[in-house]
Amino acid sequence: MTGSMSKKLKIKYIAIIALVTAAFVAACITYMFVFRENLQEDNKIYFDNVAVEAARSYESELRSLLTSAETLAKLFPNFNTMSEAEKIEHLQEVASLNDTFYDLVYINANGEAISPNNGSAILSRRSYFEMALKGVPNISEVLTNDFTGTPVNVFAVPSYTGQHITGVLACAMETADLVEILNTDTFGGKAANYIINSDGVVILPPNKDILGLSAGITPFESIEPNSDEPINLTQRDAHGNFTFTHDSDTYYASFDAIDANAWIVLTVALLKDINSVTNNVFALVMVFTVSFTVVFTSLLLIFGVFTWFSKRRYNEVVGERDYLKYTDALTEAPSYEKFIIDVNEAFNIEAPGKEHAMISMDISKFRTVNDHLGHDEGSKVLKKLADVVGRNVKDGEAYTRVSADHFYILIKYETEEHIFERINSIINDAYYDIQEFKLVLLFGIYKIDDVFMDLRSMVDRADLARKTIKDNNESTSAFFNSDMLSKIREEKKIENVMESALECNEFKVFLQPKYDLQNRSEIIGAEALVRWFRDGKMIPPGAFIPIFEKNGFILKTDRFVFEEVCKQQRNWLSHGYSMKTISVNVSRMNLYQPNFAREMYDICAKYEVPTKYFEVEITESVAFENLDVLTRVFRELKNYGFHISIDDFGTGYSSLNMLRNLPVDILKIDRSFLTESYDKRANDILSHVISLALALHMKTICEGIETKDQAELLKGFGCDMAQGFYFARPMPIEEYEKLLYSTATAK
Ligand code: C2E
Ligand code: MG
Ligand code: MG
Repeated sequence: MTGSMSKKLKIKYIAIIALVTAAFVAACITYMFVFRENLQEDNKIYFDNVAVEAARSYESELRSLLTSAETLAKLFPNFNTMSEAEKIEHLQEVASLNDTFYDLVYINANGEAISPNNGSAILSRRSYFEMALKGVPNISEVLTNDFTGTPVNVFAVPSYTGQHITGVLACAMETADLVEILNTDTFGGKAANYIINSDGVVILPPNKDILGLSAGITPFESIEPNSDEPINLTQRDAHGNFTFTHDSDTYYASFDAIDANAWIVLTVALLKDINSVTNNVFALVMVFTVSFTVVFTSLLLIFGVFTWFSKRRYNEVVGERDYLKYTDALTEAPSYEKFIIDVNEAFNIEAPGKEHAMISMDISKFRTVNDHLGHDEGSKVLKKLADVVGRNVKDGEAYTRVSADHFYILIKYETEEHIFERINSIINDAYYDIQEFKLVLLFGIYKIDDVFMDLRSMVDRADLARKTIKDNNESTSAFFNSDMLSKIREEKKIENVMESALECNEFKVFLQPKYDLQNRSEIIGAEALVRWFRDGKMIPPGAFIPIFEKNGFILKTDRFVFEEVCKQQRNWLSHGYSMKTISVNVSRMNLYQPNFAREMYDICAKYEVPTKYFEVEITESVAFENLDVLTRVFRELKNYGFHISIDDFGTGYSSLNMLRNLPVDILKIDRSFLTESYDKRANDILSHVISLALALHMKTICEGIETKDQAELLKGFGCDMAQGFYFARPMPIEEYEKLLYSTATAK
């Protein structure tokens, strides 16, 4: 039970950890992805800004180059009116002033070009010439120098004479130089800036061309934007961005129009470079999160497993302890402690329309089972009976084996008939399960009318009802009624005052003389019988001894009586009187005290009275309850020198054979054998019991002799001793002393 519970707990624990961890990881990862996406969007915005800056830088570089060209153009007024030689000389002069452009060409309004090295060509169809002649300074696309064949770009600006455009100054710059001038270290060198025209054709590639697009290529033909949205470059203020995949790498491009020829600067970088910091941080956070999760989960698991182990060990220890505490060792039925808990729980469970009944059950004359089948078999019967009772107890009910064959059962019922059904079910099951012995079960039933009553009172009432069942077993069950209650009250009253009664010397020891039957005149000893005097009245032992036996106070009472007797014997010893044995009655509870014999001996030693002057009377009804314990205690007592007698012999059901094993000195034959009138069969039994005792080397004493005839009869049977009203009643010690020693002489 404990094991499966722990297993369930363990699975539950691991499931909770797994769920919590999974939820935590899922939440972290989701959050991080969202966070990364936001950061990546921010990165793009940042890149857009960088691209705009690059475009502005390009714009200003180109503008400044155009301005340089315009400055040079101002040096050509009336150029057309010069002679050819003057023109070349002037051109050379101006060229020497300039260190920006590698070649200057003057083109007159007819498109006739003249260069400083006397080269000439007709350039009237060139678009840069046409635009400049219209007054628009501009930069050409990449052209091939007509004279040198190198790729160049021409900065074409109008040349004025007065207010009129009289020609165009075309300042050529090698494309490689222009690229070098424009080159800016954009985005830490990881971005490339392409100048394209509104048709998407590359006008100027960057000096580090990450896409491999040379001038004249239309990037939008070789690269495919990932978005379906068209890219509009035709506007003068074109501005935007897009992602595209090229050679299986994803790039991000941001474009911005510049104020030169309606060109556009397209800034491109690998998307992973743009997001490199974010991605690195993301990877770091991921590694951290995963590591943290692994460490956290491991710790949680270690902690869980550790807790589980210590809890399991704790449960084992508590379980073992509880098992011993809450389980009856012999039958494994719930102990009385467990019964208390179960009954409380039963009362707390709602049971509409149902009442509770407390049943006290025992086996009629159980000792005969032990007697006939042996002690071990007797134990087996009890185990089987406990099983039967356990099977018949339903949920929300309770039971316990409180002692030997005595059980308490709490049941729920609706009608009295229902109670009988439940009882009959137990009887039937016991009949089938324990066929080797025909058990008669007795049931005392208390229909609980007050669930707040203490449990002790409930079981007392059930016990009381059971004890009213007569031995003839006409009926095997009885209900508690209020008349019985006065008996319980009486018992309670006695319990309330017993302690103080002992302290206030309300208990007195009486002695009843025992006689040598063969010589009537000689007292051979006495039996100590306790008397309780309260409020001037004597309470007979029968009214309190059974109660003391139930609540344990009998231990104190027996000890008190024994000490009183010891004191008295000491007294007589000191006076030098001839000593007689005095017997004391010892209740069964004493026998289960671990050092009983030793304590008896210690008391004798305390008063310095030899143990041989004492006899211990143990009633037959107790004698065969637990033969092992009894044999041990008898031997110990015997070893200390006490005499031992079996009291009330004949009232129980002990086997005479068992007497053989016990060191018993005297058999006290119960007075029930004595009949008032002549009864041959009873006399036969009596005479044979006496003969048997003789054969077993035991002495016999018959108690309760009230008539001369009885005394004579027993004398005739060979009975050794006698005790009874015929000889003397129990009397105070002083009286006994007088009777014994008035005529006696000191030794
Ligand atoms: P018991 O040990 O069998 O004691 C004998 C009982 O028989 C005594 O009753 C005694 O007064 C009574 N008796 C003696 N002669 C006659 C007679 O001729 N006729 C009749 N009818 N009765 C006679 P008592 O003193 O009332 O004691 C009753 C029982 O209480 C005792 O039976 C004994 O079992 C128990 N008892 C008495 N004193 C003590 C004690 O100090 N300790 C323990 N554990 N039990 C005690
Ligand atoms: Mg006795
Ligand atoms: Mg007796």
